[in-house]
Amino acid sequence: MRYEIVFPAGAWPGVLKHLLGQGSDEQLAFLLAGTARGSGWRRLLVREAIAVPAGAFVRQTGNYLAVKPEFSQGVLRRCYEEGLSLIEAHSHPFAGRDVAFSALDLANEELKFRYVASRIPHVTHATLVVGQDSLDAHVWDRRSRRTVPVDCIRILDQPITDLLPTSHELPGENVPDPAPWLHRQALAFGSAAQQRMERVRVGVVGCGGTGSLVVQMLAHLGVRRLVLVDPDVVEVSNLNRLVGARPADARNGRYKVDVARRLARSISHNVQVRALPLSVADPAAVAALKGLDLLFGCTDNDGSRLILNRMAVQYLIPYLDLGAGLQAAPGGRLSAGGGQVRLVRPGSFCLACIDGIDRVRAARDLQPLLDRRRHADRGYVQDNDLPTPAVLFLNCAVAALAMAEFVNLWTGYRAPTPLAYFDLLASRLAPAQAERQPDCIACGEGGSLGLGDLEPLPGVATTPPAGIGTCAWPPAPETQTHLERVKGR
Ligand SMILES: [Zn+2]
Ligand SMILES: [Zn+2]
Repeated sequence: MRYEIVFPAGAWPGVLKHLLGQGSDEQLAFLLAGTARGSGWRRLLVREAIAVPAGAFVRQTGNYLAVKPEFSQGVLRRCYEEGLSLIEAHSHPFAGRDVAFSALDLANEELKFRYVASRIPHVTHATLVVGQDSLDAHVWDRRSRRTVPVDCIRILDQPITDLLPTSHELPGENVPDPAPWLHRQALAFGSAAQQRMERVRVGVVGCGGTGSLVVQMLAHLGVRRLVLVDPDVVEVSNLNRLVGARPADARNGRYKVDVARRLARSISHNVQVRALPLSVADPAAVAALKGLDLLFGCTDNDGSRLILNRMAVQYLIPYLDLGAGLQAAPGGRLSAGGGQVRLVRPGSFCLACIDGIDRVRAARDLQPLLDRRRHADRGYVQDNDLPTPAVLFLNCAVAALAMAEFVNLWTGYRAPTPLAYFDLLASRLAPAQAERQPDCIACGEGGSLGLGDLEPLPGVATTPPAGIGTCAWPPAPETQTHLERVKGR
């Protein structure tokens, strides 16, 4: 079983400040987390950090902590009632690069793990110890009934950082040279960053005009693991902009995901592609996407946006939303045109925070197709399937903007541009910033941030039980040299 702990944007610096920023005494924080489960993996998704105040300790020194039982009982009660998993994080302020759990920590940990496992079914219980330049983490594996090391701590700040617990073997110091065909790219970002990008597991939802370009660019970047989701087949009217498609694909009604897979494989021998001819509202698609590292939303459809935005917030997966459109008078005179790229880095703002999803259109998009057509026939709603103008070069501009942000997330070559709007007629690019809204319905207080499997996604009927084949990770990376052992402060 592979275990990961994910911190949403902005959470880790606050936890570190509490644990290490208060002098020489050890400190403690309880982290409440949702869980995402799949075949062979678990992710603990940090939702809330409870900093234990000085008054809640029976004893607190530079090498010993004992918290009042009533305080920890209150935390455990919340785990029991809300189904949340628990990560107990404490500091060893005198440890440097090789922090480790003490013998006393290990003895207490085992007792606590067994106690919680016997009293609170279904939650996962982990411990985390932080030194000045390193950390370690353990988790109780219920199946084997023993303590195992956590594999990775992911921090969704900029750039995204993966911290390697000290329990793990250190990866080799030498980063292998990139493949010759990726050499010029490695010159831009460095071999380590190139390696890191290659290991990112990416979901692309929508493999049409912008999605096919995204898949093409990801393959050129060297990304090796892709999950493609789109229920549609190629039509003749797609051929002016569907990269990789041939006239025969339209004649034969080939799925767009199959065309995109063929395209990716024609660029890179190393890319592994799962092509799912499904709607993102299909539980099997959700199961395949919820354990990935990043999602691209390329459907330009508010129903998909509603689901993907919630998936990002709930499963703590960064999400890039793409949109492009043209308006023209009958006979062909452009009146408006442009596109947008919006980055949801969970913990930062989401699309609901910026009112970026049209709820009426989303509800219509999520209706079964037959109902939608019937309503359109009666004039209740505009038929979303009516042909609208579309050109490849506009999609290229939007896909390129999204790819620049994707690379930046993993390499940190510049400050993030979470919102970018491109006006084709004015030939203008407008970057913008936004902030998380505390009362956001999706990610605000009491919202879905980090809830994982605890809550169903909107528009997705049921989720199949974890472990039913569809949830497996793409194969694990063969090396882990991108993982850092330091805190990344
Ligand atoms: Zn300790
Ligand atoms: Zn929000």
